[in-house]
Amino acid sequence: MEYLPLFVDLKDRKCIVVGGGEIAARKAGLLRKANAVVSIIAPEISSSTQAMIDAGEVSWLNTIFDAELLSDQFLVIAATDDEVVNRDVYHHAKAKNILVNVADCPELCDFILPSILDRSPIVVAISSGGKSPILARQLRARLETLIPPSYGRLATLVGRYRDVVKNRLSTLAMRRRFWETVLQGKVANHVLAGRDELGEQTLNELLDNVDHAELKQGEVYLVGAGPGDPELLTFKALRLMQQADVVFYDRLVSKEVLDLVRREAELIYVGKQRAWHAVRQDAINQLLLEHAQQGKRVLRLKGGDPFIFGRGGEEIATLAAAKIPFQVVPGITAASGCASYAGIPLTHRDYSQSCIFVTGQLKEGELDLNWSALVQPRQTVVVYMGLAGLPTLSQQLLKHGLPADTPAALIQQGTTEHQKVWISTIADLPAVAEREQPIAPTLVIIGHVVTLHKSLAWF
Ligand code: SAH
Repeated sequence: MEYLPLFVDLKDRKCIVVGGGEIAARKAGLLRKANAVVSIIAPEISSSTQAMIDAGEVSWLNTIFDAELLSDQFLVIAATDDEVVNRDVYHHAKAKNILVNVADCPELCDFILPSILDRSPIVVAISSGGKSPILARQLRARLETLIPPSYGRLATLVGRYRDVVKNRLSTLAMRRRFWETVLQGKVANHVLAGRDELGEQTLNELLDNVDHAELKQGEVYLVGAGPGDPELLTFKALRLMQQADVVFYDRLVSKEVLDLVRREAELIYVGKQRAWHAVRQDAINQLLLEHAQQGKRVLRLKGGDPFIFGRGGEEIATLAAAKIPFQVVPGITAASGCASYAGIPLTHRDYSQSCIFVTGQLKEGELDLNWSALVQPRQTVVVYMGLAGLPTLSQQLLKHGLPADTPAALIQQGTTEHQKVWISTIADLPAVAEREQPIAPTLVIIGHVVTLHKSLAWF
């Protein structure tokens, strides 16, 4: 992040705009909107500047720029058409530690003016860091359609009740839950539909009938985060990620997905790696339970789908026994994510009528699988956690009668920008893995559908 967005209180602060043209007038108008005390310095001024002066909104110093004028100013904007003057303003402001902005010249700016969506008291600022103001403006236009003007009224209404709610509900967590109910439910609906009075009445009813016990109740969300691409999250996953107090995540959850979790939430890594467990499973079960018992909203984020090789069942069994409320949100499992992004349909009328998911994790160096079921014709076998045991897997399948030339794919970090796909046969795939040294996580797909990759790969 090159620039930190800050919302500055300019009320009654002295600010200078150097320049008398249209751009200077626009900047002066913006500062005035935020109630700054604005002086314009210019030997000549445009008609729009004159209009602002006549209306008593800004004052005008009819002179050329002089460094003396900067004394006790909070910030200065230079917007003349003379590059020498603009630079002069910049250097003097720097010397005096006054915030400075030179219009259309990012290298001479301490701060930049964002593109603004004003739904006061809600204000959205968008910046491209000076790289493309037009793109920032386009984004603002899109947000304009998403955030109708009524959001300003909604914010004003709840603003009036902040102190009341603070006095009524003792903890931050309870207040947050109360406000989430208000802002996601009927109150917001009424106000956004223009029924402000009804909205306020509903808010008062909610406040009078608030159930303290319910607001204190903890809950666990067991959520599938999908295979990596954040756009593969479900709406529900995203909503719960946005309201969690604490998040337990593991190694498979991508950084891009984690970035979408509520920023104030506490993030706790409980990753598991082959042959190495950061936090053991029963300890994880216990952690989820304890945090929920403290009244927190606990998000357990798991790669893919929590109920597919995710031990999700064990985690919620502990919660169910302790009568802690929970929800399970499915995610896109690695098999469907990797298959789609590799252009390998898992079933196909011509090649495969069924699909089996198995774990390829070794137990004491062995794979305990139902081999005769895995070597049947016209089916697809997807192997999770199969990299370390790949030589054993290949040998056993061949031994149990799978033809050596059966196509097989190895997919590394599917659906992410690091995705790689290697196509081979079940006999040769271990050698490919040995040579290419793929980076975990990897998935193996076996069956004739793999040949379709050649024509259907798109990602
Ligand atoms: N619950 C998860 C699976 C967890 S087991 C799910 O539904 O996807 C972990 C295994 O999943 C890894 O060893 C790997 O085989 C597979 N896997 C998960 N994400 C993957 C990805 N992005 N690319 C390839 N394989 C992946």
